Order: sequence, then structure tokens, then C-alpha cells
Amino acid sequence: MLKAPKPEENFGVNCVQGEADPRVVIVHETQGTTVEGAVNTLKTRSDGSAHEVCGPDSRGRLRVVKLVKSLRTILCHTGGQNTGSVGVEKVGISAWKRAFRLASRTERRNISLTAFRTARNLHKIGSPPRYLGVRTLNRGSHVSDFRGWCYHADCTKAFGTTTHSDPGIKGISWPHKRFKTLVRFYYQFPGERDLDIGPRKARRRLRSAHE
Ligand SMILES: [Zn+2]
Repeated sequence: MLKAPKPEENFGVNCVQGEADPRVVIVHETQGTTVEGAVNTLKTRSDGSAHEVCGPDSRGRLRVVKLVKSLRTILCHTGGQNTGSVGVEKVGISAWKRAFRLASRTERRNISLTAFRTARNLHKIGSPPRYLGVRTLNRGSHVSDFRGWCYHADCTKAFGTTTHSDPGIKGISWPHKRFKTLVRFYYQFPGERDLDIGPRKARRRLRSAHE
């Protein structure tokens, strides 16, 4: 079993837009393959930033790096929807096939780690592990009308304020059901740090907790 690593602090980004109470976690994919690469880009860009990055470093070790101290800081991760949202970046390439994602141990564990961090951040901002899909988001005018989590792609489809479709390509390369189950699981069991728990075991434990 691999335990979720403790977050490292590497504060400082260029694109900051003020402060607000966050209500939503938005999940992204970096389009790169290392956490160092993503951190360097997000720290230096004038038009892009995020609250934290999850992924393997150049030696293949999974890491979590926080780029700002407070989740209240408004960063530039989802144009038009930055206020009231926390940006979590998963290292990876959207075109990666689903079969690769599940066969690669590092990628599979990174998907779990990103779900783990999404759940942690939801706890921190006092929001439930509720997935906000496009149909839900369409009922509002801004992502912060809701509490829960979604993908960058959902904001693009619902609000049209950005063009990105990360993480992955939904229904083709991104294991949405798996990710959704794992967010619920890590949220329900905040002491659980095992990244090797699969969705079947997670679902079983969620069910028995409700019986
Ligand atoms: Zn994105």
C-alpha cells in the first residue's frame, strides 16, 4: 500500500485575483508529466495559477505541492469561475487512454491522490463530496452558486467562460466513476491514506458505513 504524501509548501504565484470564501473544488489536468514542471509553470505564469498540484516528480515519486497558503486566495485556473473555487491540478496528459491510466501504477495512484486531495479540500472549505455535473451547473450562473466539486470541463460546458476540457476526455480517457467514488470514499474516511484502494473496495466500505 502507498500512503498519500503530506503536502509540501512551495508558495508564490503571479496570477492572484483577491480573496473569497471557496465553495467548490475544480479538478484539472496539467498536460505535463512531472510535478516539478507543473509547479514551475504555475508559479511563473502571469495568466495561470492553482492552489495545489498532485503528481509524480521526475523520479516517479508522488507528491503534493501547495502553491498558496490560503484556500481563500482567488487564483487563475478556470477563467470566469475563479472566485469561490479551489483549483487542484493533477499531473498528466488529457489524451492518455483510460486503459493506460488504469494499468500504470503511478497514474492510477495519482488519480487516487487527486481524489484524496479533492476530499481533503472539500472538508476544509465545508462543502460536501457532491459532484456538480453540467446539468447541475446549468441551473446556476456561476460555479460558486453551488457547494461540491467538478471538473474544469464541466465549467467550460456549463458557463462557456473557458475553452479547456481537462481532466482527460470525459467518457473516453478519464475514469469518472472511479474518481467520483474515491472522492466520496476519502471524504467519508478522512483518516484513510491508502492510495491503492480500488473503487470496488471503496464502494463496499461506503455501503457498510451506511448500514
Ligand atoms: Zn484546467
